[in-house]
Amino acid sequence: MIIELERGRQSTLDQIRDLAVRFGNRVELSEGTGVYDTVHIIGDSREFASRESYILGLPGVRAAWQPTGGYKNIARVVRGNEGKALHRERRVVEVKGLDGKARRFGGGKHIFVCGPDSPQTLEQTLATARMAREVGEKFGILDRVMLRGGAFKPRTRPTDWRGLGMKGIAIMDAAREETGLPYATEVMDHNLVEQIGAHADMLQIGTRNAQNFDLLESVGRFGKPVILKRGFGNEAEEWFYSAEYIANQGNLDIVLCERGMKTLYTKGGYCRNQPDLNACTFARKQTILPIIFDPSHVAGDHRIVAENLMAACGHLVDGSITETVHTEAWRREQLCDAGQALVMDQYSILVEAVLEYETHVVPKMR
Ligand code: PEP
Repeated sequence: MIIELERGRQSTLDQIRDLAVRFGNRVELSEGTGVYDTVHIIGDSREFASRESYILGLPGVRAAWQPTGGYKNIARVVRGNEGKALHRERRVVEVKGLDGKARRFGGGKHIFVCGPDSPQTLEQTLATARMAREVGEKFGILDRVMLRGGAFKPRTRPTDWRGLGMKGIAIMDAAREETGLPYATEVMDHNLVEQIGAHADMLQIGTRNAQNFDLLESVGRFGKPVILKRGFGNEAEEWFYSAEYIANQGNLDIVLCERGMKTLYTKGGYCRNQPDLNACTFARKQTILPIIFDPSHVAGDHRIVAENLMAACGHLVDGSITETVHTEAWRREQLCDAGQALVMDQYSILVEAVLEYETHVVPKMR
């Protein structure tokens, strides 16, 4: 629900907030241009809206309306049935590291998420994590670097290696402990959200679970920041509705991630998935959420990861999630997605290219 409220009516705002909390909602306040501000009730606001006459009677309330249409919690422009529209700011999603620095997705600077597809050993994961930290230090962007590593792996073939589970999470914890960098990790089962979420700084929902609605809602209720990959067969708006499932539980800390689609053309084998870069631009226009790009799962081959990421930078993505390993030898030893990870030296060159693009080209495009 959207409420227009005279600026400075703090006690009415408090009453609205109390009611929102009672129904499991949160409030977002946007400053209007005139004397009215807009209060957006976040989450499933149907019960809240049933108190419309009470709300309209509060001092300073000019109007209250239920937005029409689809993904109201994450939409950039929320419309009401009388044609009223609320234009919202893009959201910044923050993930704090033990180093005390917040990685700010959507804060105007590219965020670099990197690390192994899956932690296999403590030694290898720590080596990769240290190198990620070194890259951050080298370019003075430590507050824009964080780790990835899936301990629970979705695999196409049931006999393939599926990750170390909670032992892998312990390895990611150790990498964070040593480097101070926060990490994101995939959760596949709604029953494990709390267990994994108690450790991870950011949860990841993979392409295969992009429409696992129980999982989306659990992650929404849990409330930690989440990377939501696009389902490889989903239309852009289906992806936004998946995000809406999370937001409807009151969690707006969602980072959308384009990771490529299965198409007729990917059958040729020259890339693993077809990137839909226009969807990145569409997501930026349609939703308030930050959007990142996964060049590794698009490419499926480390030799074309850089090209894909640079193309996505042209679509002004807010960051990237890239698989990295510390040496060529370890790339060969990977038990999952061997071949698509960049060794850290290559990654460092790519980071430099992204930073140059961000400094010299992006300002001319905005
Ligand atoms: C991953 O990032 O580890 C992963 C499995 O990605 P996706 O869900 O995009 O395939």
